Amino acid sequence: MAYDKQNIFAKILRGEMPCIKVYEDKYTLAFMDIMPQADGHTLVIPKVEAETLFELPNSYYGPCFETLKKVGNALKKAFNTEGVMMFQLSGEQAGQTVPHLHFHLLPSSIQTLRNTRHAAEMADQEKLKEIAQRIVDALEE
Ligand code: AMP
Repeated sequence: MAYDKQNIFAKILRGEMPCIKVYEDKYTLAFMDIMPQADGHTLVIPKVEAETLFELPNSYYGPCFETLKKVGNALKKAFNTEGVMMFQLSGEQAGQTVPHLHFHLLPSSIQTLRNTRHAAEMADQEKLKEIAQRIVDALEE
């Protein structure tokens, strides 16, 4: 299927929709998930039109994983934990709801996720901003 340029993450990348950003570089953007399954639930997306892992140009794999490592380390510091979960859903049949590739990062264990159902409950924006600041501070340490 053709990439849907009107998907919400494409709009965030074009600056047409807001996000609570924690990190950005030439190839990737990391921002808070608005329906977090744990405090600190962050999304990392590539700055390229790719719906799933299978459309991602090879040159973006390295940059995506570099950002996952950076943000993951910041989550470890900000939440004082050694445990960080990463998951990625490619395709509707896998449960993907936003058709722009994204990696989920959570300073949590699979047993303690807030909602086992994915994308279920909107978080308080002010609380999300406070958590984002903790992550940004940890990134800058
Ligand atoms: P997936 O089901 O893997 O496609 O994940 C989509 C994720 O995007 C879910 O965890 C949603 O909570 C999250 N989400 C949807 N819209 C937004 C948005 N505007 N800003 C941040 N996160 C979003």
